[in-house]
Amino acid sequence: MTVASEFEQANKSYVDQFTKGSLPLPPARKVAVVVCMDARIDPAAALGLTEGDAHVIRNAGGRATDALRSVIISQRLLGTREIVVIHHTDCGMLTFTDEGLRKIVEDETGQNVDHFAFLPFNDLEKSVKDDVEFFKKNPLVLDVPVTGYIYDVKTGKITQV
Ligand SMILES: [Zn+2]
Repeated sequence: MTVASEFEQANKSYVDQFTKGSLPLPPARKVAVVVCMDARIDPAAALGLTEGDAHVIRNAGGRATDALRSVIISQRLLGTREIVVIHHTDCGMLTFTDEGLRKIVEDETGQNVDHFAFLPFNDLEKSVKDDVEFFKKNPLVLDVPVTGYIYDVKTGKITQV
C-alpha cells in the first residue's frame, strides 16, 4: 500500500465535508510566504492562514532563489503585495554542504552535478537575512514589504530576524 493510496482514502472524507469550492483565485490576504518544506511545520496553523488566504511556497530551506519563479507569478499574475520568508531551527539545510551532497549524488548516479546549487546554509539568521535581501534587491520582484522569521520547531514560535 502506497501513501498515495492512503491519501485517496483520506480525501474521501475531506470531500464529504468540503465547503470552500467558490474561493477566488488571487490570495485574499495578498501575501506570499516562502517557507521550508520541513514536515514539522504547518504554515497555515502556525500563521493563522486558511484556504484562499496566501501563496505558501515551500522548498528545501525556504530559499528565495528557488522560490523566485513562484514569487514572480504570485505578484504579477495573482496580485500578492507582501513577502514573508521563514527558515527554522534544526533545519536539514544546516547539516550538509553543496560539495558533500554533490559527491553523494555523483557516487550513486554517476552524474556530475557540480553545476547544481542545493543552497544549504550554516548560519540560520544569516540565511534569512540573505533571502530577505535577495527579494528586496531583485529587479524582477516588486518593491513590497519583505519580512523574515525563524520558526522554532520546539515551541512553534516565530521570531523576526
Ligand atoms: Zn528546513
